[in-house]
Amino acid sequence: VPKGEVILEVERLSKAFGGLLAVCDLSFQLRRGEVLGLIGPNGAGKSTCFNLITGVHAPTKGQVRFKGQAISGLAPFTVHEKGIGRTFQHPHLFPEMTVLENAALGTYARTRAGMLSCLLGTNRREEAAALSEAYRALERVGLAELAHHKAGGLALGQQRLLEIARALASSPEVLLLDEPAAGLRAAEKLELARLIRRLAAEGITVLLVDHDMDLVMGLVDRVVVMHYGEKLAEGTPREVQKNPKVIEAYLGQ
Ligand code: ADP
Ligand code: MG
Repeated sequence: VPKGEVILEVERLSKAFGGLLAVCDLSFQLRRGEVLGLIGPNGAGKSTCFNLITGVHAPTKGQVRFKGQAISGLAPFTVHEKGIGRTFQHPHLFPEMTVLENAALGTYARTRAGMLSCLLGTNRREEAAALSEAYRALERVGLAELAHHKAGGLALGQQRLLEIARALASSPEVLLLDEPAAGLRAAEKLELARLIRRLAAEGITVLLVDHDMDLVMGLVDRVVVMHYGEKLAEGTPREVQKNPKVIEAYLGQ
């Protein structure tokens, strides 16, 4: 997909949890090379949207297309393998494993032998390749010096970077970041913003969820605003920030 063309398409997506419509008739497009913000008050359906894109949940209605191909209903592993990486709002790390091993878990999407044989050490060549890709991902986020430390000992800011490294280890074309700045100190947020800008400059397409409006508005090309599962507004940061419906949704929180 050339730069500027649609790479990921969310098409009239809905997800019901029992009687609750967490995502309701949501449509938007992500163009290759852009940074798109997905914002909205707590409970608006942002993480559910990520879970629908990445195969954690199957949609109740609607479709997700990646490079023109329908991907809804595929397993998370398969979606990851196709080139969509993500981080979680609450870091999903293995505290007893090293930083490098945690990052390497992100590469198994692309190795034929898969995670099991790598963990069992039955395929040395693939294991070595996975570890060197993981190490490069750690270098990209600035964690290489801690490669052999246990992940459980990392500070929150470092855990969030490790989540990003794990997603990068599979060389994704699209990267979904779910509240990467939550709990970070101001200096760490600036570092994170620089990292996201660098990744975008390298050609990775980014979908960014965060509550820090200064961070989001300073990084994104466009924003989609969600409220109670629906799309409330879409546009440039400037357009969205002066939209009365958006202002009201945030004030009413
Ligand atoms: P956001 O990330 O925007 O804060 P979420 O997508 O996490 O919002 O949640 C949207 C709504 O869906 C909330 O009301 C939440 O409680 C509900 N929800 C999310 N995941 C589940 C689930 N697995 N089961 C039931 N309800 C859920
Ligand atoms: Mg969330």
